[in-house]
Amino acid sequence: MNIAIVGAGLVGRVLALNLLKEGHTLTLFEKGSKEGTQAAGFTAAGMLAPFAELETAESVIFEHGKRSIQLWPDLLKEIGLFDGYQLNGTVITAHPQDMSELNHFIGTLKHKVKEAEEIEMLDRESLGSLESDLEQHSSAYFIKDEGYVDSQRFMMFSGNYLDRSAEVTWRENTEVETIANGTVTVNGKEERFDWVFDARGLGAKEHFDDLRGVRGEVYWLESTDIDISRPTRILHPRYKIYIVPRGNGCEGMDMAYCDECKISQTPHSKRYIVGATEIESEDTSPMSVRSSMELLSAVFAVNSNFGEARIVNSETNCRPAFRDNLPRIEQDEKLTRINGLYRHGYLLAPAIVEKALNEGIRSMFDGA
Ligand SMILES: Cc1cc2nc3c(=O)[nH]c(=O)nc-3n(C[C@H](O)[C@H](O)[C@H](O)COP(=O)(O)OP(=O)(O)OC[C@H]3O[C@@H](n4cnc5c(N)ncnc54)[C@H](O)[C@@H]3O)c2cc1C
Repeated sequence: MNIAIVGAGLVGRVLALNLLKEGHTLTLFEKGSKEGTQAAGFTAAGMLAPFAELETAESVIFEHGKRSIQLWPDLLKEIGLFDGYQLNGTVITAHPQDMSELNHFIGTLKHKVKEAEEIEMLDRESLGSLESDLEQHSSAYFIKDEGYVDSQRFMMFSGNYLDRSAEVTWRENTEVETIANGTVTVNGKEERFDWVFDARGLGAKEHFDDLRGVRGEVYWLESTDIDISRPTRILHPRYKIYIVPRGNGCEGMDMAYCDECKISQTPHSKRYIVGATEIESEDTSPMSVRSSMELLSAVFAVNSNFGEARIVNSETNCRPAFRDNLPRIEQDEKLTRINGLYRHGYLLAPAIVEKALNEGIRSMFDGA
């Protein structure tokens, strides 16, 4: 089939990779550049945390999250990203004064799903042997079946892979005005396709009147003095703050990133994504002083060696969310819309796309 995907952010790319495997011809319409740096999928830390997200999420997020964790490795292999996925568990800790809140948090998870019974409490010694740079904490919890996708490299590798495919036409810097059944309108001209996917994230507000953006800010830090190998969460009264490792600063990155390493003069340092604020606003202006102080003081409290880390970048973007903060799939004739992945895009995208394809375009072939 001749298919249009509107929006080449996270969902658009996961859709494209799935549809290519099935032999379709694709046109990708993207308002920004094909590098995808404007998408929330680029700003994201890429955490795969079905358990840790459960406190405020529904069990459907947990189930789709577990399915996505099974699907990610094949998707990443397909685009040649062999070291962009880790499932070695998450550490959750808190400042001493917030430990009782952390115990309550873990209790809530255990109450919600049976598998959470396996969440382990670590004392200083076992925490130190798991992550020596966290041993200044007297206790923490360890959730073993969680990890992350290297989101920035997923965007880069998937973009390059789709660029090389003869079955893909990129229409970057092209803003689609309207989407209807089997049609896309650009510059006032209607173009026809066998099927259209609306994956515009927050750009789909003209269709969904209950779609909103939730602002999130992250820092990229580099340090030669800190070696943390697993995503680490710090319970914070206002945000769910995390430190997500990204390996060596410039290894495997393209030149744009290496330039940043040169600025920091620490080419072999470890990179960490530190995030993320969560503010009910569609403002994508740069990081505020308040957010900056909150994120940086939280990491400094985790290990004071972060005091000498270099800030190599900060990013701000908005998560597309509906009122219930749950994802939504809308099927119509020759048209599928996927949106509202909120703070769970990486956790949900492969499973939600699988579901959308099974219920929509694939069911047409089954029925034939
Ligand atoms: C700070 C932050 C941290 C996050 N951390 C995590 C995390 O750790 N784990 C996790 O699972 N999720 C995380 N997320 C959430 C995740 O990034 C989103 O859920 C996900 O990116 C949503 O995917 P999407 O494809 O719907 O939107 P996007 O990724 O934003 O993609 C939408 C694309 O559509 C394009 N577009 C819009 N309008 C048009 C138009 N009219 N014509 C053509 N193109 C258009 C946009 O330019 C964009 O490229 C985070 C998000 C933020 C902001």
